[in-house]
Amino acid sequence: MGRLFAIEIIYRGIFQKLLAGKISRAIVLAAHNEGKPGISFGRYGDSPERNGIPAKNFAIVGTDQITLEEGMAKYEPKEVDISIVVDDTLCKGVESWAWYGLQPANRLLKPNGTLLVTSKESPETLIAMTHRKEYPYKLSIVKGIPSFSGLWVYKDDHTDVRILGAIAKLLPELVSLESVKKMILDEWHDSLKVTSATRSYDRTSTVTVQPSQGNPEEPFKFEMPKWWEMRDGVTIPCIPQGKAMKDAETAKVGGWKPERNPTFKKYTTRTMRPVVNFDTCIKCTLCWLQCPDSCFDVTPEGLYDANMEACCGCGVCEAVCPVANCITMVNEAAFQNNASQWEAWKDNKTGYLKWLQEKIEQRPERSHGFRFRGQYAEQVPEMLQIAKDA
Ligand code: SF4
Ligand code: SF4
Repeated sequence: MGRLFAIEIIYRGIFQKLLAGKISRAIVLAAHNEGKPGISFGRYGDSPERNGIPAKNFAIVGTDQITLEEGMAKYEPKEVDISIVVDDTLCKGVESWAWYGLQPANRLLKPNGTLLVTSKESPETLIAMTHRKEYPYKLSIVKGIPSFSGLWVYKDDHTDVRILGAIAKLLPELVSLESVKKMILDEWHDSLKVTSATRSYDRTSTVTVQPSQGNPEEPFKFEMPKWWEMRDGVTIPCIPQGKAMKDAETAKVGGWKPERNPTFKKYTTRTMRPVVNFDTCIKCTLCWLQCPDSCFDVTPEGLYDANMEACCGCGVCEAVCPVANCITMVNEAAFQNNASQWEAWKDNKTGYLKWLQEKIEQRPERSHGFRFRGQYAEQVPEMLQIAKDA
């Protein structure tokens, strides 16, 4: 009986599609250099991909053809040796598409499997963002900012080969560094990429994460409808009208809260979130009107509270707010929960302002795509420098 290896790549749909495809294909090609058959594919359930929605690719390799075929008899792997996360904010969990609920990023990891994350964050920050697991697993970090380049441009910043170098270190039974180097030269004809892969191989280190570490929250889930409960045809029930909000302090009715899709919350789409300064808000309504996801709850005093279970982090509210620094997009890794900012402000206005000022220092060095033409080209030398220094 041979051995089957499974690796998943968790990425942001569309924004990292090319990156994920290159990594999964390259794993299989490198394994071919050792005579191991393999296949690389995307998860059907993630299609059609949408901007920023978490999606997955898989690379499955067997030590022989029969083992691979046995492994491929399943729709998708039930467990993996390595989960690669190419955007660290995905450590908060994956809601890939309606009907899934929230899945921990480490959900499919085997005992002692490795979560391999591209990030500039510390292991402690990433562990705190990731759901607890009932058995130990390993965390390994390839230092760097998430490589977003969109569907039509590929940011060749060596994220792909640095991950391949790390895989050779973490799972040498799957593929050796020599096979990775050969694949890079055969496919990409680039000796600088070989250097990056080798450097990553030499510097990859891991920490063990114990079952007592990590986010203890139960991921949100719901009962899937049974086939006999489904309605005729493919229909999606419309979202009912919203309702008045209760002011928690006085129990008086006030404000307005739209209803939202109960089976697709979308917040794992977010790589950054808006932080609102309620003291400078002029109640102009623009954020509420322009938010593409109806995220703003209208508070009893007519302020607008971005609901963090609904926000996908698009940044439109920051762009339309006419008051300077009233809405600021902040790196999602800076937050531990989805609590209401308005409630925190109401409870302690001075404390909230201090919190807000600390948070907005963590403005993201990222966006979902590019803010100006040529931005991706500017980021490539920066990433190569990080790869050199890491
Ligand atoms: S970032 Fe702002 S506009 Fe975009 S979904 Fe979130 S609250 Fe709405
Ligand atoms: S756009 Fe800015 S000023 Fe206008 S309501 Fe929203 S937060 Fe307030």
